[in-house]
Amino acid sequence: MGGEIVKLVEKYGGKVADSYALALQASRNPEKKVIVESAVHFMAETIATLANDDQQVWITNPKAGCTMEMMAKDWMVLPVADELIAKYGDDLLVIAYMNTSGRIKAIAGQTGGAVCTSSNAPLVVDWARKQGKKILFVPDEHLGRNTAVKCGMDLSSVCTLGDPHTYGVTWKTADYETDSAEMICWGGYCGVHTIFTPQQVRWWKNKGWQVIIHPESKLEAVQAADGSGSTAYLWNTVMDAPSGSKFAVGTEGHFVRNLKEQAIIKGIDVMHLADAMVDNNDNNSGGCGCATMSRNDPPHLAGMLDLLRKGEAPDINRVIAGDVVNEQTAERQRLSGDERIEMIFNAKLALNRMIEITEAAS
Ligand code: SF4
Repeated sequence: MGGEIVKLVEKYGGKVADSYALALQASRNPEKKVIVESAVHFMAETIATLANDDQQVWITNPKAGCTMEMMAKDWMVLPVADELIAKYGDDLLVIAYMNTSGRIKAIAGQTGGAVCTSSNAPLVVDWARKQGKKILFVPDEHLGRNTAVKCGMDLSSVCTLGDPHTYGVTWKTADYETDSAEMICWGGYCGVHTIFTPQQVRWWKNKGWQVIIHPESKLEAVQAADGSGSTAYLWNTVMDAPSGSKFAVGTEGHFVRNLKEQAIIKGIDVMHLADAMVDNNDNNSGGCGCATMSRNDPPHLAGMLDLLRKGEAPDINRVIAGDVVNEQTAERQRLSGDERIEMIFNAKLALNRMIEITEAAS
């Protein structure tokens, strides 16, 4: 998120955190009855999925979607998952990255699978492998491959399905070699994180800078870097480093700018990885911010709080588990009562499995 909204949230006692910690905000704070979320929709929906019945979740801008999540809407994933489940039965489970809708998390729950975040993905994949399961990993092909390598999997046993685009799947599952695959990756990706290249990494390393990168980036860039991990990993690695350290950080631009601001106070230099002068990129990359996430800004937050205070908050900002949002119009397609109860049940199974796996390892 942009630094201005982060400062505002911190100033008024709110919570700034990664997706794992945010997911637990409603359930860990049962006395809070109204929760306003200033991030992407899947994050607000996850909070709503784990919320108690007397807690409401609102989003400051209903058009704030994640383009990776938009490449794995339920109407794209379900037919493919059904085909694979029909073929492999109980041998297959779905791991849904946090960057998915509740409906996709519910598919994970139904198949005995779990949700994961970028920090606990290796733990969740190891957990699935110990059961001898074939994994359908949704939606990020890069996090899937990076996690497979981290878990010691042979890349020849990782199959990546086609690009799902945002308008729908145009390929056939039968065209992919899924029988011999231990992990089948959905072909979604994050446009912000896939700009990083090994050439950029080497450019910084040749100048004596350390390079750390988010695992939604391409495998070649991750393997060239000094380290990779979640936003919490990136933040802590920089902030725990001795004064005089220099880091090029490969992740979302607003995050890097916030980190740079804090790190310089400790005498640590931070630059955005894509600011390397390579690939004909002789100008500045501009920081590669996530445009959709940034639709949450201080005016939207202030406006939302004011409308809630007056009892006039629009329903379009109310986040209920199971909602599918059209990020162009902000319209919501809502499940009926019974459908929602079933979806929440299954999505909670997948989320709670992730929590159990993560807490057991810590
Ligand atoms: S940076 Fe990428 S993964 Fe994160 S919210 Fe934006 S589009 Fe989604």
